[in-house]
This record gives sequence, C-alpha cells and structure tokens, in this order.
Amino acid sequence: MKNHINNIWDVLIIGGGPAGMTAAIYAARAGLKTVILEKEAPGGKMIKTDLIENYPGFIEPILGPDLSIKFYEQATTLGTEFIFDEATHVKKLEDRNFEIHLASGNIQIAKAVIIATGTKENLLGIPGEEKLYGKGVSYCAVCDGAFHKGKAVAIVGGGYSAITEGTYLTKFVKKLYVIVRKNYFRADKWNVDHLKETPGVEYIMETVVDKINGDDKVESITIRNLKTGEIKDLEVTAIFPYIGAKPITQFVSNFDITDENGYIIADPKMETKTPGLFVAGDVRDVPLRQIAIAAGDGAMAGQMVVEYLQNLR
Ligand SMILES: Cc1cc2nc3c(=O)[nH]c(=O)nc-3n(C[C@H](O)[C@H](O)[C@H](O)COP(=O)(O)OP(=O)(O)OC[C@H]3O[C@@H](n4cnc5c(N)ncnc54)[C@H](O)[C@@H]3O)c2cc1C
Repeated sequence: MKNHINNIWDVLIIGGGPAGMTAAIYAARAGLKTVILEKEAPGGKMIKTDLIENYPGFIEPILGPDLSIKFYEQATTLGTEFIFDEATHVKKLEDRNFEIHLASGNIQIAKAVIIATGTKENLLGIPGEEKLYGKGVSYCAVCDGAFHKGKAVAIVGGGYSAITEGTYLTKFVKKLYVIVRKNYFRADKWNVDHLKETPGVEYIMETVVDKINGDDKVESITIRNLKTGEIKDLEVTAIFPYIGAKPITQFVSNFDITDENGYIIADPKMETKTPGLFVAGDVRDVPLRQIAIAAGDGAMAGQMVVEYLQNLR
C-alpha cells in the first residue's frame, strides 16, 4: 500500500460500500483527488449478500460480490484510490480542512469528507453469543451458510434481511428454523410465503432465543414462547441473527450531526450542518436502506462535494 500521509485529498470518503463507491465515481470523474477509506473490503454489505434481484439494470439476479467488483472497478478506473484502514476520529481544522485519524495511527487530511459507513448488525445480547461467535454464531449467511450443508440451523428475525438470507440458507441446510419475536413479519409477503413453502423450513412465531449452547461450537439454542412461556431446546449447528442494525457514527460524535437513533441528518445535497462534511447511504436518516438508495445518495454527495469545492475557490 502506498504511503498517503501528508497528501491533501480533495475528498476522503469513509466507507467503501455502494454509497461510498458511487460518491467516488462522481467525484473522481469530476477530476477530484479522491480516496476511499475502507476497514474491510470494497462492497460493504453488498459483498456479503448472495443474490441481488432489485438493483436496476440487472434483469437476471446478480451476485453481491460481482456487483461489488463492478462498483470497485468503475471507481478505481476513474482514479479513486483506496486506503484499507479504519477511521477512528474526524476533526475540522481552522483552515476548513478535515483531519481524519486512522486506527493504524496515520492521519489523513482532506478538503471534504463523505461519511458512508453504513450500519452494524445488532447483537441478541444473550449467553453464548459472544463465546460462540465464529463457531456457529454468524451475522453473514452468505459467508458461513455453506459450512452447514445438510444440517439444521436457525435464523432470528422477521425483516427483509432475515427472510432473504434464510432463503439463501435453504440451498444448503436440511432444516431451517425462522424464529420471530412478533406474530407478523416486516418482510414483504411474497418473500415470506416463498420461504415458508420451501421444504424443511419451519416458522416459529412469538418466540425469542434465550441462550446459545455449546462448548467449542453451537450445539443447540434455547427458545422461549412469549405467549405460553414454553421453553425448549432446538438442535442446530448455527444461528444467524438478523435483528436490525445501528449506524456507525461514533467517530464523528464530536460534530453533533445525528438524530436520536444515531443516524446522520443532512440537507437534500447530503451536506450535514458542518460545511464540507457530507453523508450517504444506510448511515443517513432515511426510511429505506437499499443499494439503489445508497448509490443515489452517493451520486448526490459526490457531485455536491464538487460544487462545495468550487465555491470554496
Ligand atoms: C443480509 C442483507 C441482504 C441485503 N440484500 C439487499 C438486496 O437484495 N438489495 C438491496 O438493494 N439491498 C440489500 N441490502 C441492503 C444493502 O446491502 C445496503 O442498503 C447497502 O449495502 C448500504 O450501502 P452503504 O454503502 O450505505 O453501507 P455498507 O454497504 O454497509 O458499507 C459501509 C462500508 O463502510 C465500512 N466502514 C464502516 N465503518 C468504517 C470506518 N470507521 N472506517 C472505514 N470504513 C468503515 C464498512 O466496512 C463497509 O464496507 C441487504 C442488506 C443485508 C444486511
């Protein structure tokens, strides 16, 4: 990796998911010196998703990793650079530039910053979850589903992610328990019905998971029916919680730009109340979190940074 210290970037984008990479496409194409800071891999949540059926332009479903590579190649072909590191703190300097502190100890300077860090999955917060993480507790069906071929596993949650990832798991597993706290789903009826009709799938409603059991790997989970109080163990080799997510914004908490849930508030140009500090994607206060929306936000933020820098001059 190149040493980028002492570079002054026109725009530094924190997060290389669909929002960040689309912002980079617009900024780099307009000739800005553009860098994406990414703590994992380009693609964000998209790279951890199996089939994407609702991204415009792809009539046949496209694999998340393939779509991630397309975004990455377009951004880098246009001149975007990548730094693989984590932003830990952002500061605005007196000269209007931003100082971005990284987990490695490096510091980057940029004239504008776009926050595109997305969200982090909520934990169940139950005994066994932390201890057995990576040993059957997983938040990524696409990453770990294939390890459980022919086995019984559980998905927790009734939202879109839970149902679509559950559908993906049915490719491998013999038995899939879908455990839902409520007596209804937040996911759309078509996906819910489609999964329910798949052989080996059992929906368990109005039920929570109290405990994940096993010494070195997940062996079973203890579930509790909220209506009857009945408690029982289900033998599974894995559990995949999909119970919502929280925005990743702690590294900009000094700016006071979030709502009561931690999502970043911006104007229609994606600019926060701090001039030069923009936002895009799932981390923004929006009613729907999808790739097309993240990309749309990114396009707006990337282009508005161009305008912001022109006005500064
Ligand atoms: C299981 C699942 C299935 C989905 N399926 C679909 C689907 O079929 N269709 C659809 O349209 N949407 C789908 N979505 C939603 C879609 O993935 C998101 O809306 C989209 O990825 C949001 O893009 P983003 O760029 O805002 O954030 P993300 O994709 O979350 O990317 C954020 C990036 O920021 C990085 N990052 C975070 N913090 C830091 C930091 N401090 N420093 C550096 N880097 C950081 C992360 O590593 C990550 O790469 C799905 C989501 C899930 C969870």
